[in-house]
Amino acid sequence: SIGLRRFMEKTPRSLELYKKTLDVMPGGATANIKFFSPYPIAMEKGRGSYLYDIDGNEYIDYLLSYGALILGHGHPDIIEAVHVQLEESGTYLFGAPHRLEMEMGEKVKQLYPSMERLRYTNSGTEATLLAIRLAYAYTGKNKIAKFEGHYHGGYDQVLVSVNPPVHEAGSERHPHPVAESKGVDPYHEKHTIILPFNDLDATYDILKKNQHDLAAVIIEPVQGGFIPATQSFMDGLKKMTEEMGILLIFDEVKTCFRMGLGGAQAYYQITPDLTTLGKAVGGGYPIGITGGRRDIMELSAPTASADVFDVSKSRHSSAKDVLFHSGTYNGHPAILAAGLATIQVLEREIWHIQDMAAKLKAGIAKLFSERGVGMQVLGLGSIFNIIITEQESISNYRDLQKADFALRRELDFLLLAEGIYTKPLNRYSISAAHGEKEISRTLEAFEGALGKLC
Ligand code: PLP
Repeated sequence: SIGLRRFMEKTPRSLELYKKTLDVMPGGATANIKFFSPYPIAMEKGRGSYLYDIDGNEYIDYLLSYGALILGHGHPDIIEAVHVQLEESGTYLFGAPHRLEMEMGEKVKQLYPSMERLRYTNSGTEATLLAIRLAYAYTGKNKIAKFEGHYHGGYDQVLVSVNPPVHEAGSERHPHPVAESKGVDPYHEKHTIILPFNDLDATYDILKKNQHDLAAVIIEPVQGGFIPATQSFMDGLKKMTEEMGILLIFDEVKTCFRMGLGGAQAYYQITPDLTTLGKAVGGGYPIGITGGRRDIMELSAPTASADVFDVSKSRHSSAKDVLFHSGTYNGHPAILAAGLATIQVLEREIWHIQDMAAKLKAGIAKLFSERGVGMQVLGLGSIFNIIITEQESISNYRDLQKADFALRRELDFLLLAEGIYTKPLNRYSISAAHGEKEISRTLEAFEGALGKLC
């Protein structure tokens, strides 16, 4: 393919580094998601909306670290906030409570009123893990339900039916659980129930059948950040979980700040029992937040009698009195400073990000339609995906599997060669640093690439 050939001509040093890294890390990557075939591009610098690789190529960055960099690379307000925090405190880490934990928490509560109490974690993965543990503890039940195609992190309970081969995954309306990885304990294929997204009747039937075992339903309100739940599906899901005594967890790790400051719950006007945030909420630094109803969250409150490390109490109480949640780096001061700075900038500039995203989405859709190629630019707010398909609507994982990924991959390599960066087949995210100039340069690159392809 021309795209791939041009990509390889431009990136010889990335290939060289990749080959050397194969001797250090399995697959030459520290996270499976960072790999793509034939080899990933190794980056050296980032500035605003731009990334620079080790061959000196410049890219407009639309991967933005899988959506985390909502203000772009090296935003001066984030750098300043982190710097001030380090300078003034003279340390990176207190290992004790500090002011920013409360200040950031108050801000998050203001934007997400459903999060009456919250806890910090180091990643989105840890945030959903805590939410699920809280749900088990609160309900006393031992199963969860998730939707086919939804991702909630890299541990066994939720690493089921994220991207299953359709021929192994049962019928569309009653999907079978499929473990997503070697090494996932088969226990979880029995204890994680799989639901069909945007199909209220089938979801009802499955929940009803498992009602007495289900602690929670966890959902990405916008699947993968780009396939939105319909309003009626969300309304129905809220109602049925409430009636059946099953907790509703909104995993907003990807959606937070991407469809408005109040996330998907403000957009859909639904109050979940628990919420998880991540990615954009740290402006690019590692963070997750779990929060929700006070009566549920308070289960994790430490008390004198529940001090897990107090050996003197072991004769009087049981470890089961405690919902364990801990982490050396939870509430890291530099990261909370970055998070607060991110929110302050977004309060002024979120409209710009949404505006740039709307322009780019409309421009791309127009270019495809001028060439008569069936496609959808899917997504709400500042994160979207380009799905090449003749289908009129895409509402779940099964619809997505019918898209033309080969053509999209070809397009992606042509765009990479023209300096437009997202990982092949991945989403597009927009940051505060993307302006008119970047949007028009991107549309020109799309026009050129589509001219070569169709
Ligand atoms: N939940 C959702 C919806 C996500 O998109 C992700 C990451 O992509 C996670 C959880 C896991 O977050 P992290 O990669 O920070 O562990």
